[in-house]
Amino acid sequence: MQVRILGCSGGIGQKVRTSSYLVDHDILLDAGTGVGDLTLEEMLQIKHIFITHSHMDHVAIIPLLVDTLFSSLKQPIIVHALKETIDALQTHFFNWTIWPDFTELPSLEASVLKFEEMKIGDVYELNGRSVEMIEVNHIVPAVAYAVKTQNSIFVYSGDTTTNDSLWDKLNTYPRLDLMVVESAFANHDIHLANVARHYCPELLAADLKKLRHKPKLGISHLKPGEETLIMDECRKAFGDDWDLHQLSSGDVFQL
Ligand SMILES: [Zn+2]
Ligand SMILES: [Zn+2]
Repeated sequence: MQVRILGCSGGIGQKVRTSSYLVDHDILLDAGTGVGDLTLEEMLQIKHIFITHSHMDHVAIIPLLVDTLFSSLKQPIIVHALKETIDALQTHFFNWTIWPDFTELPSLEASVLKFEEMKIGDVYELNGRSVEMIEVNHIVPAVAYAVKTQNSIFVYSGDTTTNDSLWDKLNTYPRLDLMVVESAFANHDIHLANVARHYCPELLAADLKKLRHKPKLGISHLKPGEETLIMDECRKAFGDDWDLHQLSSGDVFQL
């Protein structure tokens, strides 16, 4: 399995993009602004988008992606998410005011966009890869995803703060090769992290102690301008037995 980091920041700016992770060439985990860096040919290979939650930084590009590919798509792009997330997208994005409802274009029977509801614990099989939805703890209903092949497992936390559901689930896996987990804030913003339900290094360090695996660890969703501070705090808080990565758009991991 290949994991390509398209966007991994909490915001935007030069070379900084919001959450979007391309698995192989056809599975997208979240559709933040990083998707906009792909070529048309690369975008056309995306068949499935798994969305962690309804926040703008994770869904912003879906409307533009579908519109851009409209006349080239031979089959619909399928967006997988919780019911609450799909409802939010339909109500607030594809409502004919912000954007057309592409689930009925060019026709209801042959639309370019389809939503498929998943529930916590559901596993979606895709040509030798399976994608499992895992509950996390964010300010809106939110999930993590684990992508598994026969010999590798990649987990992406989406947005979350302290929880047991994710870590308990990961401990049931036989292995964990790469984990992308957020630390949106530095420790001085711990109050904000608690209110907005994100991690800061101190909160994440406490949860990492629950994990029995030692995967490659990519830290995502860093607040623009505080990347160095947050990564320094992570290194101090986690201890030095972690293979820690500050992610950047364009990074590729082969698992
Ligand atoms: Zn969020
Ligand atoms: Zn976010």
